[in-house]
Amino acid sequence: MKYCFLFFCFTVFSIHAADKPNILFIMSDDHTTQAFGIYGSRLAALNMTPNLDLLANQGIRFDRVYCNNAICTPSRASIITGQYSQTNGILDLRASLPTDKQYLPIEMKRAGYETAMIGKWHLKNEPQNFDYYCVLPGQGKYFNPEFRLRGERPWPENTMLMTGTHSSDAITDISLEWLREKRDTSKAFFMMHHFKAPHDMFENAPRYDSYLEDVIIPEPVNLHNQPAKGFGSAASRPYGAGVTKAHPSWGLGKKLGIDQSLSEPAYGKAVYQKYLKRYLRCVKGVDDNVKRLIDFLKESGVYENTVVIYTGDQGFLLGEHDFMDKRWMYEESMRMPLIIHYPKIIKRGSVNNWLINNTDFAPTILALAGIQTPGYMQGISFLDAIEGNDRPANWRKVTYYRYWMHMAHKLRVPAHFGIRGERYKLIFFYGTDKDGSSENSTPAAWELYDMSTDPHEMNNLYDKPAYASLIGKMKQELKDARLELGEQDMNEHILAIIDKNWDK
Ligand code: CA
Repeated sequence: MKYCFLFFCFTVFSIHAADKPNILFIMSDDHTTQAFGIYGSRLAALNMTPNLDLLANQGIRFDRVYCNNAICTPSRASIITGQYSQTNGILDLRASLPTDKQYLPIEMKRAGYETAMIGKWHLKNEPQNFDYYCVLPGQGKYFNPEFRLRGERPWPENTMLMTGTHSSDAITDISLEWLREKRDTSKAFFMMHHFKAPHDMFENAPRYDSYLEDVIIPEPVNLHNQPAKGFGSAASRPYGAGVTKAHPSWGLGKKLGIDQSLSEPAYGKAVYQKYLKRYLRCVKGVDDNVKRLIDFLKESGVYENTVVIYTGDQGFLLGEHDFMDKRWMYEESMRMPLIIHYPKIIKRGSVNNWLINNTDFAPTILALAGIQTPGYMQGISFLDAIEGNDRPANWRKVTYYRYWMHMAHKLRVPAHFGIRGERYKLIFFYGTDKDGSSENSTPAAWELYDMSTDPHEMNNLYDKPAYASLIGKMKQELKDARLELGEQDMNEHILAIIDKNWDK
């Protein structure tokens, strides 16, 4: 009995006082799963991410991680709060996250961590809950970036200019300096290291100018071949921002200096090659800078006790569906890459396929730090997935998505919501802005895809009679998800439009 008591004491002691792992959370901006080796896309053979691939091969790769709104600010807010947009109030790019809702650094600090936020923040208010911060203003610049940091003057007046540098190198320099010289080594660290790259318009460091120069980048199967979607063919209803001339242009070809007199398919091919090379050169710069961080952790002897997490704030369309940018609920845009390295608990080379979303990140990081999920967070810790344990029976079967910024920014993406299950995806383009106004409204439309047989979402099954009962079941799941989240922007105009088109 006495022995048991001592053992119990030792167990508790070991949980609370053993070395907590350091946690290095690396996030890039718009680094999509197609642009990795490890995710096995058409681009994988280009080998643009050897260091991230190695990290995944020695750790765990997650295959079904989704954001709940594929744009920067809302995804970042969900990661920091562990809450859905409907709860934290960050529905679009204009919103700003109040400092008292920056829950993740608040909780990590409470757990005894020294915390740092370096790079792209994009939540507007001061990241004041971090012990140290050095962040880009808004999107920041690719070259000669300016940073905001704590100082004598009030936020955001204390600034630092990194002249002669590319942002990916500068952000890594700042992180390495903090790790090497500034942090309190008596505490474990929690560092959020956020690259600006490869956000558009992509600008790489000069040393990558010739990278992939002589390579022909493989095209997606649906660059020149876009079957009609729920909202019609490209010609009949010109939504989205195209790479080819089949969709209206956001100005991409002009910005890239492509001869506007070229006809298709030559024009689209030329835009695509230049667009992708610029993007992949930025990705290569991110991958090389990740290696700098890992090399430092190894050299300083803390690599084995550091959880290294790598993700992107959402996916990105690289010509799939003849679209650029994100925003859409299509897989390339909604899906997030996620790699975690921590050999103490992760079986080398693991792959996971649970349905995870970006509200789960904060609860999981807290679990790695030995903290239970606070009641106000809506996400669920997936520590069990990291450890290779069985999926809990009550794990989510669908994940909800909503994009509010109806037809914004010349990117012309209609507002929509939907659910992504393990096999099927149901999307409802309800066709109006946040106020439900008729101005700028678009026709309502539904889409259903079988992701197991149609991973490129080419074949909309919504009108096929064989899927009627599945659609009925999924519409109920969609209703339940919206009810559970208490969608706060619902007004009578939007509800009337949704009701009118629900059984369409
Ligand atoms: Ca982003």
